[in-house]
Amino acid sequence: MIAYALGNKLYLNITNRCTNKCSFCIRNQGPGVGGYYLWLDEEPTTQEVIEAIGDPSEYEEVVFCGYGEPLLRIHTVLEVAKYVKGFNVPVRIDTNGQANLAHGENIVPELEGLVDTISISLNAENSAKYDQICSSEFGEEAFEALLEFTRECKKYIPNVILSVVDIPEIDVEKCRAIAEDLGVDFRVRAYIK
Ligand code: SF4
Repeated sequence: MIAYALGNKLYLNITNRCTNKCSFCIRNQGPGVGGYYLWLDEEPTTQEVIEAIGDPSEYEEVVFCGYGEPLLRIHTVLEVAKYVKGFNVPVRIDTNGQANLAHGENIVPELEGLVDTISISLNAENSAKYDQICSSEFGEEAFEALLEFTRECKKYIPNVILSVVDIPEIDVEKCRAIAEDLGVDFRVRAYIK
């Protein structure tokens, strides 16, 4: 499934690749969410994603999210976001915040004017714990990189959110303090078992 509706929002599943292996990842629990099967046989082309969306006008938001890290496909995200914004529908990206590490350059300025909200998974209060929980292919470097990514997002994207999943290993209040320090919103998501 490439595009699927949950409530009034349309979610886009454009890749199953990810630079993390989070212990709490919903992909460990089953093949999808909301009854939708989200393992892709192959990644859809930009045109296939646009065709799967059709007319997005009826949705309150279009969200790039899992089953994987959408910003690994930055060019597809940019093209599809441009298409959605053509209908005046808000765009959100859910990301692990490692895109600049993965691409070896700062991709955030390219999102300006195309993305209304970005929700970045903070997942832990320090780099050692992040590494323990998320096993990034970039090791402990990933945590500082996601904080730097968040600072960049603040310059170009109207709504920036840091989020955590409510698992016992993390100190939610310390994570909240990090978000406050960076001047961004903070959300706690329920752990789905
Ligand atoms: S960053 Fe998201 S998709 Fe990637 S492993 Fe973690 S929870 Fe799963």
